[in-house]
Amino acid sequence: MAFVCRQCGECCMSMGDYIVIERQVGPYSFEACSVSTGTEFLAHIDKDKQGLFADGTWIRDHPGACPFLRPSGDRVICCIHETSPAQCKAYRCVVFRIRSPDGRPAGYVTGTLALHTSDPALREVWEEGEKAMAKGPVFSEESIVSFISSRGYTCE
Ligand code: SF4
Ligand code: SF4
Repeated sequence: MAFVCRQCGECCMSMGDYIVIERQVGPYSFEACSVSTGTEFLAHIDKDKQGLFADGTWIRDHPGACPFLRPSGDRVICCIHETSPAQCKAYRCVVFRIRSPDGRPAGYVTGTLALHTSDPALREVWEEGEKAMAKGPVFSEESIVSFISSRGYTCE
């Protein structure tokens, strides 16, 4: 299932304590650290984002955000897309979205396999799936997708 990041920036808004710039080593290059894993990395501001990055107004007003985050029109984007840490590249806030049997958007599932829905019928099916999987197979993205798909829902 393809995940498309909408570049809302939400996932990076509280990363200021976790992605830290240690020192500047070039006009647009920084030694940085991903604190949670202790991984040091060399961050180069993407060529097409150097102008955005140079304007520090927004980041001064948002000290909790990752220092490499900047607003761009109606998006809030990472300025080191090419050199960001592996966990940033792999991150997906939404694992999959669910449509009801009649094709309406019914909910979505986030990275911890948590269901977000206001549709009671989908909630019921999901809970049924959780109960079924407590006896095996293991609760996983694949098994829950297979279960709710068998009830007519579409996962995408
Ligand atoms: S991964 Fe999700 S929360 Fe983060 S920027 Fe993309 S859409 Fe927004
Ligand atoms: S490096 Fe980029 S993707 Fe990672 S937290 Fe910072 S802004 Fe977000």
